[in-house]
Amino acid sequence: MKGVILTLNAGSSSLKFALFPPEGDTPLATGLVDRIGADGMMKLKDSGGGALPLPQGGDYTTHTQSLATALAALEMSFPGLTVAAVGHRVVHGGPDFAAPIRVDQTVLAALDRFSPFAPLHQPHNLAGIRAAIETFPEALQVACFDTAFHRGHSFENDAFALPRTYYDKGVRRYGFHGLSYDYVSGHLAEIDPDLARGRVVIAHLGNGASMCALKDGRSVTSTMGFSALDGLAMGTRCGQIDPGALLYLMQQEGMDGDAISDLLYKRSGLLGLSGLSHDMRQLEAADTPEARQAIGYFIARIRRELGGLAAVLGGIDALIFTAGIGENSPAVRAAVCEGMDWLGLTVDATRNAQNAPVVSDDGGKVRVMVLPTNEELVIARAARRLAVGSERPAA
Ligand code: ADP
Repeated sequence: MKGVILTLNAGSSSLKFALFPPEGDTPLATGLVDRIGADGMMKLKDSGGGALPLPQGGDYTTHTQSLATALAALEMSFPGLTVAAVGHRVVHGGPDFAAPIRVDQTVLAALDRFSPFAPLHQPHNLAGIRAAIETFPEALQVACFDTAFHRGHSFENDAFALPRTYYDKGVRRYGFHGLSYDYVSGHLAEIDPDLARGRVVIAHLGNGASMCALKDGRSVTSTMGFSALDGLAMGTRCGQIDPGALLYLMQQEGMDGDAISDLLYKRSGLLGLSGLSHDMRQLEAADTPEARQAIGYFIARIRRELGGLAAVLGGIDALIFTAGIGENSPAVRAAVCEGMDWLGLTVDATRNAQNAPVVSDDGGKVRVMVLPTNEELVIARAARRLAVGSERPAA
């Protein structure tokens, strides 16, 4: 295949991107445009983490302008760039999209229909695709879904106990962070195929956080449900909440949908409980009772979900921590595993302090691991696979 692969992860006000060579897993460059709008800015690094030059007076006012500026910056460091395919992170693939897909106008229209399912994410993901079609009309556009990894769930892990008609309308437990689970479980299969065939729980603990139970490398159930709000408490999202509390907020406090959405997505979680920050590093450094309680709540939910997921799997063989907090916070990992020897979990303090790939004791029944995630690579591989496939002459 000729040409490079560009991956795009378009958020409400940010655009993460990476440039992958025609072959190989190491990106040539990774970049981030932050605060798209009046005070947007870009960071761009080479494969070794060194800063790459940026164009003077770059325009970051819209997603399309940001992409154009990102491309101009990439052209400066990699002249004569030909983009064979653009791989997009798309949060929602609805009930039907269970694998990466080539995007055309029909697919784009289908994905638009899922925007009400994820109003804070999906429209931005699709804006990124439209911007990329405009910028690279010749390149293959590939959508990779956060929901796809979970599409094989059994009915009881896919449904809510509501009248059937809502299930038929798409009100289901989709699960998210699928690209991350795909990467981590695939990596485990490479380094320890026997373990990957067993009962594995992956804890993706970043600004967004969820856990997934896997058997034989496939998702059995996830802590996230219809939206990216359910399950664990997160940086600014509430996690599991009694729906009765929402009825109270609507009926007694007079909050409407927009106000509740703002509360649950942006003002809750670690930020809401601590009153200080959504950021785990800042909370670990802060010495306030509220910060300690926020971390305590975060950990308590993880432990509770771990028990539930272990019950679903009938025991666990491995617990894997990933994403910003999971990869970097020995304190969180230790607190999650403390007193869990009844489940076979033990942690070696020295290995844990080093963020070592295996942090459990040698004699521990459950392998406790730290495996960095790499969602961009999952997207790049999928885009490359489809691009190579589309080059083949028809049989
Ligand atoms: P996102 O979901 O935005 O991709 P990340 O996976 O980058 O998020 O995770 C961000 C979280 O990881 C933040 O809460 C941050 O404080 C936390 N984090 C990063 N490094 C550390 C560290 N050394 N110790 C504790 N938490 C950390």
